[in-house]
Amino acid sequence: MTSTNQPRIAIVTGGGNGIGRATALKFAEAGYAVAVWDLAEQAAEEVVSAITAAGGVAIARKVDVSKPEDCVAGVAAVLERFGRIDVLINNAGVVRDGQLVKVKDGQVVGQMSADQFQFVLDVCLKGVFNCTQAVVPTMIAQKYGRIVSTSSVVALYGNFGQTNYVAAKAGVVGMTRVWARELGRYGITANAVAPGFIATDMVKSIPEKVYNALIEHTPVGRAGQPDDIARAYLFLADDKSSFINGAILSVDGGSVIGT
Ligand code: ADP
Repeated sequence: MTSTNQPRIAIVTGGGNGIGRATALKFAEAGYAVAVWDLAEQAAEEVVSAITAAGGVAIARKVDVSKPEDCVAGVAAVLERFGRIDVLINNAGVVRDGQLVKVKDGQVVGQMSADQFQFVLDVCLKGVFNCTQAVVPTMIAQKYGRIVSTSSVVALYGNFGQTNYVAAKAGVVGMTRVWARELGRYGITANAVAPGFIATDMVKSIPEKVYNALIEHTPVGRAGQPDDIARAYLFLADDKSSFINGAILSVDGGSVIGT
């Protein structure tokens, strides 16, 4: 709650599915009014229906985070409805995996295309920049804000076939640390969560052998659930987390220890 006893307002990008959906539901359950932004409009609307059916407050909007004008218009809509923005959860993401160069029998037979590289950067890196830039003037005026962005443990140790995704997620680490320095004096914190192996649609295509190996390398012995990440977002977004700034919180069951 704010000092005027109004609920805090949170925007969750990519809130229609997976981790974003779990996050939108979790924030609503915690008493936030939630703006669910997603490229998939119907998915966002379905999440809003679930929140309102449970007695919460939420609005859905089709926003392509890679488009600055979409983010600016989205912010205007949230302000019109709720009058403030307390939290931005930068969660929207995509993958387009491919090796830098693909080699077969000693011959180069393919490569990650420039478009494939750019597409992931546009959503996972520029999208975070666009949304954050769109909300920050409001947060500065309020002298309050919580920006939580989604990096990944792969930003810390790389991942086969993910030059584009790893570049974006490492970029999120860098941007978060810049914003922590630039915005801290205005009552705004910027932090990131680095999820490990989370059981979402994104990983459904992983072969069983690889899945089992991933579990084996996770000390807690299980894949993460979307709710594990949602809890971390909620913690970093809390009013009382005001001294946590520029942190990259791994939520990975311990999988990166020692790497
Ligand atoms: P995860 O496994 O990380 O939860 P999902 O694919 O389930 O990943 O969810 C990512 C969400 O981000 C999806 O709801 C998807 O529609 C959304 N999304 C993807 N690209 C964009 C974009 N450009 N703008 C807004 N939302 C996006």
